Amino acid sequence: MFGRGPRSSSNDTKYYDVLGVGKNSSQDEIKKAYRKSAIKNHPDKGGDPEKFKEISHAYEVLSDPEKREIYDQYGEEALKEGMGGGGGGHDPFDIFQSFFGGSPFGGGPFGGGGSSRGRRQRRGEDVVHPLKVSLEDLYNGTSKKLSLSRNVLCSKCKGKGSKSGASMTCSGCQGSGMKVSIRQLGPSMIQQMQHPCNECKGTGESINDKDRCPQCKGEKVSQEKKVLDIHVEKGMQNSQKITFPGEADEAPDTVTGDIVFVLQQKEHPKFKRKGDDLFVEHSLSLTEALCGFHFVLTHLDNRQLLIKSQPGEVVKPDQFKAINDEGMPMYQRPFMKGKLYIHFSVDFPDSLTPEQCKALETVLPQKPATQMSDMEVDECEETTLHDVNIEEEMRRKQQQAQQEAYHEDEDMHGGAQRVQCAQQ
Ligand SMILES: [Zn+2]
Ligand SMILES: [Zn+2]
Repeated sequence: MFGRGPRSSSNDTKYYDVLGVGKNSSQDEIKKAYRKSAIKNHPDKGGDPEKFKEISHAYEVLSDPEKREIYDQYGEEALKEGMGGGGGGHDPFDIFQSFFGGSPFGGGPFGGGGSSRGRRQRRGEDVVHPLKVSLEDLYNGTSKKLSLSRNVLCSKCKGKGSKSGASMTCSGCQGSGMKVSIRQLGPSMIQQMQHPCNECKGTGESINDKDRCPQCKGEKVSQEKKVLDIHVEKGMQNSQKITFPGEADEAPDTVTGDIVFVLQQKEHPKFKRKGDDLFVEHSLSLTEALCGFHFVLTHLDNRQLLIKSQPGEVVKPDQFKAINDEGMPMYQRPFMKGKLYIHFSVDFPDSLTPEQCKALETVLPQKPATQMSDMEVDECEETTLHDVNIEEEMRRKQQQAQQEAYHEDEDMHGGAQRVQCAQQ
């Protein structure tokens, strides 16, 4: 958007000078002038690349009635604003090619693939899919077949869209693929917007109805079903990528992008993974913790592991133990494996009868002596121990403190307001 008098003509004639034409020249004269100087100054023929760029840009503007009008009225700066500040416009080689529609010198110095070729090829977008896998899949490795549909270049016209292989410059956008629309926002304000040409869908070219490829109807591409065989290797990680290079949608004059699968590991009910290690939770009864245990753990490949304590060993609550080489296989070194960690919890009984206590006291280490006489105990104050849920209580206390702080805050503001009112 820019504000200038709509009738104030710009004195900028640079683009006309570059092409060597007058300000009132016709579209035909501009075309002829461009043809002559573009061929003469093409870098493949030893021309100056900067000069070639200038010629192309001048032609790009002057061949488009809308852009020419903006340029005539407001000058070069106005066009730059409309093009998003960059003022870049299009690749001069693209403009050249869409003007001449292929090789203009028919096997001449341009025939063998000029320096500009390849560089101009756009790269198509990669197609990214998430791929859900189980921890078992990542432990054992697996392969999954996935059916996808994608665009491929039409086999009949090789992606040209026409029987003859020829295409014409789109008349709607003069081959630029873009159109500029101007909106009057006020007496001295206009807004110009650039958008892809609707007539050629931004390709900059059009195909004669009679010449249209019968197979793709000039669309240049067709849909193809493709089944991909995805190999999930042992030890692959969550969010690791599996890439199929050049398997994404094909499009004319485009280097085909990749299909990329991103692994997403589903939560496992029993095992947690950290790098190459596995973690599993196991709870023991107090008797097992004190007197020994054994249990069977079914691994991710369905092997049954016997897990047992050493004779006489006591396992304490929150203790970890590890088994070597029973973790995850390492990626691309599947014979190497991480550790399997077992995290133990111990279920204590809630209460014991006096008889049970007596029986336990005969086998467990002796209680520490109180070193207090009955008389001394009698002199102390009696207390009662209550059960508490400590986390719950702490949370409640914190909430209370927050609420009090909030009320205090409110009181202060209320007070300030009252003072203000009193002053008015
Ligand atoms: Zn167009
Ligand atoms: Zn076709």
